[in-house]
Amino acid sequence: MPINMKQIEPPKQNTNSSSGTEKKLIKNLRILTSDKLAGPNASPNTGTVRVVHGDLLVTGNRVTELVLGGSTHDADSVIDGKGFLAIPGLINCHTHAPMGFFRGLGHGRTNMIEEFLFPAEKSLTAELLEPLSWSYLVTSLRAGVTCIADHYYMIHGVGQALERLGMRGFIGETIADLGGAFPGWESWTKARDAVESWNFSSLVRPVIAPHAADTVSSKMLREAAQFARKNSLTLHMHLSQTKGELQRVRIQDGMTPVQKAFACEALWDRTLAVHMVSAREADFAELRTSGATAVICPTSQIIYEHLAPLEHVAASGVHWATATDCAASNDGADVLADCKLLGLMARDRKINSDTFEPKNLLASVTTTPARALGMSGQLGVIQAGSLADIVFLRDDLSMRPAFDDLRNLIYSAGSSGVEHVMIDGHWRLWRRELCGVDEQQLSGEFESAVSEIMRRTGLNQ
Ligand SMILES: [Zn+2]
Repeated sequence: MPINMKQIEPPKQNTNSSSGTEKKLIKNLRILTSDKLAGPNASPNTGTVRVVHGDLLVTGNRVTELVLGGSTHDADSVIDGKGFLAIPGLINCHTHAPMGFFRGLGHGRTNMIEEFLFPAEKSLTAELLEPLSWSYLVTSLRAGVTCIADHYYMIHGVGQALERLGMRGFIGETIADLGGAFPGWESWTKARDAVESWNFSSLVRPVIAPHAADTVSSKMLREAAQFARKNSLTLHMHLSQTKGELQRVRIQDGMTPVQKAFACEALWDRTLAVHMVSAREADFAELRTSGATAVICPTSQIIYEHLAPLEHVAASGVHWATATDCAASNDGADVLADCKLLGLMARDRKINSDTFEPKNLLASVTTTPARALGMSGQLGVIQAGSLADIVFLRDDLSMRPAFDDLRNLIYSAGSSGVEHVMIDGHWRLWRRELCGVDEQQLSGEFESAVSEIMRRTGLNQ
């Protein structure tokens, strides 16, 4: 007797079987699938996506078959997915998860980074980082995010939080020697040592995370980029994130932040270049040539300064991803909502190309960040051989009429339709409830950590 996807109790699961052979068959779905990316020369943000009727067979932590029509496979568990749409787990490729404690406090401040964030961050301690991450991570899961690229201090705590929730993360210890909360050359040696002694599961992987072009010297940026290239790691950095950064780099280095990153060999197809708010047309052209990905965080950019120049994104043909950034400058973790906002802003700016059409907005939170993370074909897609990171949305009236499924997904249903989430072959959210984790306990731990950080910083709640 198949399990029904509308039942309240989550299916029983063996929590130690991610690399095993347990088979889960989910039948009668509509499935958003895509053609395989055509290698490094594929055009940015393309790839044919289509919705098909079929069944998904998950073996261990991978999708092993996508069967059109009906399948006759045997499985350890059979689930009737009628009434659900399966989409690839979303990748939010620029977060600072522990900054959930800043939610609601960042609005209306000028020079927020220098005058507000850095002083508050000086009060952080390693043991506060895991509980401070709960708010952002649980919210992310309910928004259909299965994987984040996180950039923060004492990143070990974020890794522990991800492991406890069973979420995927590519996490980087922030390095900086010219500014930031903890400037110094030792930030780099500590980050490098942490990578060399990495001991998380395959869900949590390291990236190299220079803070920004104005807070990191050319010497450190070059060394960090060399290390990342040598070890096939992603380099995740803020770049041209403010007008102030542009001015400071011009004075310090006599060039733009993008030119500096290029000169330090920090831009290649594994680079996430976050924000590009103060970047010029020529900077976008340089980024396009390098193969790096521009990460646009529309809500955060509007709250903090202004939206990146979308006309240059469109005209340059650069690879681009959509992300939320942190709770201090976004409040939420709903990356599909940011996709909708980005699409609307492009329309408002009269960008007539199809750059910000739904298929490309969806690619910006699936295949494009997967490429920058070195996970093309593994993440951001549902196909035989991909990792089983899958979001199941109610395929209800918000998705009808089904003339344009992708437009319905981004502009109508959004993350409100997210009902179940599977990561690495395990159910992590079932009927919007966490599986195997006590949310009340996490809430209590988060509240205590927030009280502690408020006490230490002297900020008012
Ligand atoms: Zn950021």
